[in-house]
Amino acid sequence: MNISVFENPIVKEILAKYRVLWGLSHALSLMSWDSETYMPREGVRDRAIARAELELLRQQLLLRPDFVELVEKAEGIETLNEYERGVIRVLKRAIRIAKSLPPWLIAERAKITQEAMIVWREAKAKNNFNAFKPYLEKIFELARKTSDYLGWEKHPYDALVDLYEEGLRTEDVDRVLGYLRSELKRVIEKVLSEGKYPRTHPLENVKYDVSKMEIVNKRILEILGYPLGVRSRLDVSAHPFTIDMGIYDVRITTRYEGVDFKRTLTAVIHEFGHALYQLQIDPALSYTPVAEGVSLGVHEGQSRFWENIIGRSREFIEYIYPVLREHLDFIAKYTPEDIYYYFNTVKPSLIRVDADEVTYNMHIVLRAELEKLTLTGEVKISELPEYWSNYMEELLGVKPRTHSEGVLQDIHWSMGSIGYFPTYTLGNIVAAMMRKTMINEIKLYEKISIGDFTSIREWQRERIHKYGSVFTPKELLRRTLGSEYKPEDLVEYLVEKYLK
Ligand code: MG
Repeated sequence: MNISVFENPIVKEILAKYRVLWGLSHALSLMSWDSETYMPREGVRDRAIARAELELLRQQLLLRPDFVELVEKAEGIETLNEYERGVIRVLKRAIRIAKSLPPWLIAERAKITQEAMIVWREAKAKNNFNAFKPYLEKIFELARKTSDYLGWEKHPYDALVDLYEEGLRTEDVDRVLGYLRSELKRVIEKVLSEGKYPRTHPLENVKYDVSKMEIVNKRILEILGYPLGVRSRLDVSAHPFTIDMGIYDVRITTRYEGVDFKRTLTAVIHEFGHALYQLQIDPALSYTPVAEGVSLGVHEGQSRFWENIIGRSREFIEYIYPVLREHLDFIAKYTPEDIYYYFNTVKPSLIRVDADEVTYNMHIVLRAELEKLTLTGEVKISELPEYWSNYMEELLGVKPRTHSEGVLQDIHWSMGSIGYFPTYTLGNIVAAMMRKTMINEIKLYEKISIGDFTSIREWQRERIHKYGSVFTPKELLRRTLGSEYKPEDLVEYLVEKYLK
């Protein structure tokens, strides 16, 4: 039985009008899930057009004068409860963003990024930066314009990071990444010189049987409490992702490369963390604009928490060891301790997506710095590869030999997603903040060692998940974890795990 938390008649009228927008989002999500999983290749022709048309319709419905007027009217009401205020805040923000960007800019960006993604893929495969360069120039130029239209106070990067993490400012990014940059330098050097954690592991080259690994993944999801088949699915896609059609249908994917089994398993646990956030939103918020995770950083915090804090812990590896042993023949040769080190190798490397917990955030330090410098024109696109290379050497002591393992490695810029990278580090920080609080409040590691994941899920539901987007990310963190993004907790976690 859901008790309605929305009482104000104007807010109720807004929510009634909002339902068609919700319905459109539902359909668009399902279409996008299908595109990434089962759609036949040529289906992309029809799908691209259908999606563009529906996106446009969604935009028109959001900006309908009667709807905007109602939202503005509700904003002035002082007696709204916090759920109602959350709805109005989220809608106002969506309307502001939609109104600020002229249609030509949106069309131009759609056109350029569609071409750029294809060119980028080819350029990366052939190590050809010059082919991608004109597109990257155009993309940064459009990003500058986007930022100007949205408006910014201290730095043009402000408006862009805010799109992914509401309320985030360049000064937050600088504070967090500046701290991590200097602290991690020390931690990385020490972890490497102590050599307790290996740089590579023999299991990385061991092949697995895909059908057996599918069983392992499902068994682990069962242990974690994923409602497979009831409110969720596990499918296969080129890149693992989570998508929700609402709070009663949340789906994740993984991939099977046939070798190095931790890659598919950690992807499953990561996406489970994202899915759990959606699954545990208060049902009373269904079909409203606040029935979504609040930001990319807070979302990534949930996935990194399950993937790294839980999934790579000694307690967890020991707990799931019998399952691995039962289904994967080669495990018999290894102890739980061996498996723990296999899950926790530490090695400064060139590729962000393959980076370990200790070195990962340096990759983000580099990208955020280069995005800022490129946006302001202090670094020209033609100078990017050299900057990338030198900075990489400074941060991690490794230098790319090709553009493909340097400036061309990530898809984000080709998609026009500038300002997105910092949310990965915010996720790592939020995960570490939750860990610290959970150690104090529910003895986190004891819970993991006895497989009591219910207590952990319930903690997350009560403190974070159930609120959806009712509060801004910063307010949510202050209320439930005591402070905004706190990089000290991340460093403390890494020191305790890798140096004690
Ligand atoms: Mg993620």
